[in-house]
Amino acid sequence: MRVLEACPRRFALQYIGNTPRGETKQDLRTLGRRRPSGDYMRRAVSEAIHRRLLALKRNERTSPGDEAAWVRDYVRAAFMSGGEASHLKLDRSAVDDLVSRAQHRARRSREIDLLKRIDAGESMEWLPLERRQPRVTHRSLLWTAPDLIVHIDGTWNLVRFAMEAGRSGPREHERLELGLMLDWAMAEPSLPSDPAAFRIRRIAWRWDRWVDWQRPGTADWMRESRDLLDADIHILQRAHLKLDGFGNLDALPTARKRRECVSCGYRAICPGSLVKPIKAG
Ligand code: SF4
Repeated sequence: MRVLEACPRRFALQYIGNTPRGETKQDLRTLGRRRPSGDYMRRAVSEAIHRRLLALKRNERTSPGDEAAWVRDYVRAAFMSGGEASHLKLDRSAVDDLVSRAQHRARRSREIDLLKRIDAGESMEWLPLERRQPRVTHRSLLWTAPDLIVHIDGTWNLVRFAMEAGRSGPREHERLELGLMLDWAMAEPSLPSDPAAFRIRRIAWRWDRWVDWQRPGTADWMRESRDLLDADIHILQRAHLKLDGFGNLDALPTARKRRECVSCGYRAICPGSLVKPIKAG
């Protein structure tokens, strides 16, 4: 949803994968995976939090030192020869800078109140989830699961970690994306079927700390989120028809904000890019 909102052309390239210029689907997949260097740092933090929670679930403890080493290896592997980000050709000191930023964020995540309560072994039900596993519905494949679900103080908390936030609260389209976690929860037979039984939380990195934004779930919120999803699927189907019928990528709208193109791997082939193309090599 966020990608579609930010740039319909990027969405079509990433999820439909067809251009009249001769790039294969594999080319498009490779380009679509390209990220600015900071994304590898953020992904390392996200993976570190996920790994720590998985270890805790198995009653294993990870020390801050283990985590720092793991984050370092993850970031370095992305930039070394043959790594996913090797085309960016960062020098050693730039990679080390990303490593230390990732380590700092991972270390600070140990101060998140909810994670401290889990870490302290407080009695409650909780489960880390794999957001990258899609849910198959009659409509589509949906990536709407939370990163973590915690039953605490009589409420089910659906938690999404955001590795960078420009504001302390989500923007409207992000709020609606978060509301899709309610849609996910309604499809889980072991969870209550009332959105009011849930609390939506977005724990995001902002200005050197983790900020925990949270609101009670409501049926209206879930409905608005579903409506947006349906509208997006409809746009996607129309985009699909346009691309398959006419092969005309240029017919699709482009990003309105420069920052969307900065993080987009399709800069190498997109004439609508608002920033200089990434080298295609
Ligand atoms: S380079 Fe910019 S305009 Fe082109 S697909 Fe990517 S985000 Fe959209």
